[in-house]
Amino acid sequence: MINVTKTFLPSQTEYQAILKKAWDTGWMTNRGVLVQELEAKLQSYLGTSNIIAMTNGTLPLQIAIKALQLKGEVITTPFSYVATTSSIVWEGCTPVFVDIHPEYLTIDETKIEAVITPNTSAILATHVFGNPCAIEAIETIAKKHGLKVIYDAAHCFGVNYKDESIFNYGDVSTCSFHATKLFHTGEGGALFAKDEALHNTLFYHHNFGHDGPEVFQGIGINAKMSEPQAAMGLAVLPYMGEILEERKHIVETYNAAFKESELQLLKIRKDTKWNYSYYPVIFKDETELLRVTAALNQASIFPRRYFYPSLNRLPYIEQQHLVISESISSRILCLPLYVGLEDAHLSQIITVIKKQLL
Ligand SMILES: *Cc1c(COP(=O)(O)O)cnc(C)c1O
Repeated sequence: MINVTKTFLPSQTEYQAILKKAWDTGWMTNRGVLVQELEAKLQSYLGTSNIIAMTNGTLPLQIAIKALQLKGEVITTPFSYVATTSSIVWEGCTPVFVDIHPEYLTIDETKIEAVITPNTSAILATHVFGNPCAIEAIETIAKKHGLKVIYDAAHCFGVNYKDESIFNYGDVSTCSFHATKLFHTGEGGALFAKDEALHNTLFYHHNFGHDGPEVFQGIGINAKMSEPQAAMGLAVLPYMGEILEERKHIVETYNAAFKESELQLLKIRKDTKWNYSYYPVIFKDETELLRVTAALNQASIFPRRYFYPSLNRLPYIEQQHLVISESISSRILCLPLYVGLEDAHLSQIITVIKKQLL
C-alpha cells in the first residue's frame, strides 16, 4: 500500500541513545535537556531566533491569537488545514475569508483590503504547501491598517524566503512537527516571534503562565513539548539533508512527467528556497480527480485531497462563497511523496494517472 506520506523513522537504537539522556536526568517533560537541545539545534539549522517548541502545531496558533489579544474579525485563507480556521473560532474571533491566488494557492493579497472593517484585528494566512504568501504586500497592508500578522507555517520547515527563514516573517509564525510533516517529533510544533516582549508572553502562555514555581505572568495553558517528543526530533534532524535530497528527486520526477500534461502544478513564489513538502496536482474538474483517485486506489495507491473542503464550507462557519478556493479544493490532489517511495512505484503512480488523463 502506498499512502500520500510515510513517517520518516530513525533507527530505534538511535532514538533510544538520545532518550537515555532523559532517563539519566529522570525528567520526562517541563523543558528538560532534550527540549532545550532540540530548540538550540533547530534555531541554528533554521536560522531563527526565539523558537518555542510545543506539543503540536495547533496550540501555537491558539496561543498566538491569545497573546496578540485578537478580537473581532481575523482575515484568513479558506485553503488550509482545518486548524487554521478552528483556532480563530476557538479563540472567540470571527474568520473572514479572502479567496486565494489561483496559482500560488495562498491568500490573494489584492483582495484583503476590501474586507477590512473597524472590527478587523489581524491577518492569519497559511504558506500553503511551503509556498510563501505575498509577504511584503501583506506587511504593507497590516502596517497601514494597524493589523497583526500570524503565519500558519505548518508546512514550512526549512523554507527560506529572500535568504531568510520564512519563520522570521510576520508578528508570529507557527510550525507543525506532526508525524505527517516534513520534519517531525511524532506530535509536535513550534512558535516563532522576533519581538522579545511578545516572545516572553508566548512563552508564559505555553506553560500555564509560570514564571518560576510560584509566580504567574498572566493566564496560560499547557502546550509544552515532552522529552520523548524532543528525542524524536533530535534523531530525525541529522537526516534532513538526505530527506530533502530524496524528496527533491521525487518532485523532479513528477515534474518531468507532468509538465507537458494538462495538470496544473504548484507555482512556487520567486525568491523561495522550497522544501519539497507536498506534491499537489490540480485536475480540470472534480470528475477527473475522482476518476484518477479511483484508478490509483485500485492499484493500492492512496493520495489525499489536501485541502478539501474549502474551509468556508465548515459547518460552524457562516456561509461565504469563494469561487477560486472552492474550485481548487474540489480539483486538487496530493500525490505520494516520502522517503522510501521507490522509483518503480513512482513510475506506476505516473502511469496510472497519465492513462486516466488521455
Ligand atoms: C498540520 C497542520 C496544522 C496542525 O498541526 P498539528 O501539529 O497537527 O496540530 C495546522 N495548520 C496546517 C496548515 C497544517 O497542515
